[in-house]
Amino acid sequence: MSPEVNQAAAIDDDVIAALDPVTRLPYGVTRYYASLARDDDPSKDPIAAQFIPRAEENFAEPYDTIDPIGDRMYTVAPRLVHHYHDRALVLVNDRCAVYCRHCFRRHFTGSGDGRITDSDLTVIRAYLENHSEVQELLLSGGDPLMLADREFFRVFDALREVRDFLMRVCTRMPVVLPSRITENFARELGRRMPAWVVIHVNHPREITSEFSLAISRLHREGISVANQAVLLRGVNDDAETLEVLFRALVRNGVRPYYLFQGDLAAGTAHFRTSIDRGIEIMRELRLRLSGLALPTYAVDLPDGGGKVPVDSALIRTETDAYILRGPDGREYRYPREYPRLGG
Ligand code: SF4
Repeated sequence: MSPEVNQAAAIDDDVIAALDPVTRLPYGVTRYYASLARDDDPSKDPIAAQFIPRAEENFAEPYDTIDPIGDRMYTVAPRLVHHYHDRALVLVNDRCAVYCRHCFRRHFTGSGDGRITDSDLTVIRAYLENHSEVQELLLSGGDPLMLADREFFRVFDALREVRDFLMRVCTRMPVVLPSRITENFARELGRRMPAWVVIHVNHPREITSEFSLAISRLHREGISVANQAVLLRGVNDDAETLEVLFRALVRNGVRPYYLFQGDLAAGTAHFRTSIDRGIEIMRELRLRLSGLALPTYAVDLPDGGGKVPVDSALIRTETDAYILRGPDGREYRYPREYPRLGG
């Protein structure tokens, strides 16, 4: 780790305290992830940008919220979000190894709510028993792998007892703390198939030999891995960077699954790239990459409208908004910030 970035990893408390209490996330980074940064100025380095807080986090557009995808609207039991017909999301734990400055789940991540309790699990299990349409469970947070293996698998098994769900473990650990993916963890998860691990890589520099080792441990146990990237201004909002990223993921046996348009999360406007720019980047990538390496460019519609692929959902572009068709057939407006915020 360079001395400059080492210093950044121990960022001044005053900077943290100055962040708006509504939009702020805790500050936290692993030594490993900080060592990937080459500059401690988040406006100059795509890794630093993802973990070093900036004054811009104090800013929120009028349409920005701490719950941009409507988790709360679809919360059916403590820590259980049932938005889509056949799958439900369990918020296992509010802690993360690195608090990504672009995180959209600001109503929960780092909130101090801690880990899921036995009484939460009892209520969740009762709900799931009565909802046989739920076939797939997403274990998320926060990062569920902040729990020790024993605790994590206790939660996993308690949920699996209800039904033979397909389990999706949503974690950033292979990216921010690859040593967390131990042989023991991979073996235990491999014993509990079917399960997928869904990770979150945004930049080619996050793909290191440590990352590759963590992924290969999962593969050895027969576990498939997919990636959800976020289109982030100043980090990966160009076709060249994303081409390198998606090629590297495929070479590591990781399927590039989604590229998300930035959600309207308070304190993250400075990370957002316009949908016009996103479409342009995807057009370029389609010329360069095979289908295997090409993710779906998707947006989570505001007001809990749901996740849709931009290509097929975009109906028209107005001066100040993109009009997209939601899964329910209704029209939703996603603000058009370009050129006010730039590309
Ligand atoms: S690891 Fe996920 S939940 Fe945690 S801060 Fe990053 S994006 Fe948010």
